Amino acid sequence: MIRSTHNVSNSHSKMRRQQDVPILVVSQDYELFFGRSGSIDKCLIEPCELLLDFAAKSGVKITFFVDAGMLCRMEALAANNASIERDLARIRRHIATLVAQGHEIGLHIHPHWEDTRWVDGAWDFQGTRYRLSEFSDADVTDIVRRYAGVLQNLANGAVRSYRAGGFCIEPFSQIRSELKQQGITIDSSVVPGARLEDDNKGFDFAGVPDSSWWRFSESPLQPDEAGDFLEIAITPLTLPLFHYWGRAFDRVLGRRAAGVSGDGVSKAIGRREIARRLAGAGRVSELSIDAAKAGQLKSRRVERQNRDIWQVMGHPKLLGGTSLRALEAFIARRQFRRFETLSGLASAIGGGELGEA
Ligand SMILES: [Zn+2]
Repeated sequence: MIRSTHNVSNSHSKMRRQQDVPILVVSQDYELFFGRSGSIDKCLIEPCELLLDFAAKSGVKITFFVDAGMLCRMEALAANNASIERDLARIRRHIATLVAQGHEIGLHIHPHWEDTRWVDGAWDFQGTRYRLSEFSDADVTDIVRRYAGVLQNLANGAVRSYRAGGFCIEPFSQIRSELKQQGITIDSSVVPGARLEDDNKGFDFAGVPDSSWWRFSESPLQPDEAGDFLEIAITPLTLPLFHYWGRAFDRVLGRRAAGVSGDGVSKAIGRREIARRLAGAGRVSELSIDAAKAGQLKSRRVERQNRDIWQVMGHPKLLGGTSLRALEAFIARRQFRRFETLSGLASAIGGGELGEA
């Protein structure tokens, strides 16, 4: 059974809850594109400056899930490549700024960096393995250890949260023990109800109940009250029926969503998933400030929901001209007064503040 955060019985905690909730968690996947990478300025540094500025004004705290494979790959090549060496130094300084401003650094794993080559001044992602499940158990352990290590160094050992690249969290058994070894016991890869049918990058959370958080041990899809891991779900969003038709139309016309910061191109989704989406299935997505989805924050579907905890995600590379305005209006409408990083929220949950004895 998933423990619910509702039904707090005694009046003292009711009073406390009324003061403290709703809580807003904002997370961002800090990464390049995986079709054509785009530049670190447009995909990472410039949009993050806007996010940091917004956070400083609003009080929002952000968990940045940093694509650590990118850093490891850059480290491996920097000695013989001056431009990678320069970019790596800038990214390192940038991440230090995020930490210094009180935001959280989380581990994001896209293992395709293991196979990624630098060809003629650009990253070449062709023929790379997208999911950890395509690697041997020994390789996966090594990847988690190296990727977590590079981030723990940058974040002074404070990395406690994980998000699987492309939400491909299964099989969790492959990463469980090494994550724990690294002190990472919070996962935030699950969007309850969402499902993506793609041979290379699919996931299936269709049967997961819409709760804000739960404990687990062997898999985030199997809640376990005595588990040593905590799942903090990404708030699901049901897209309007014709959302993907608009997106497909944009693609055919070669249009990017309004004013997106990043200058790269995403990895393509398989035809089966595209067909499914255009047929009106697969409409459960994640609540996000990415340009293509930020407008949904003011939709009636979102408006009529009553939650104690909201997690809105996004990607700096997909931040658009209206993203932060949409977030600002969302915060004002829902009267958020409490903002947490994922690990901050986990501490509150662990301290019994949010419904756990
Ligand atoms: Zn990612």
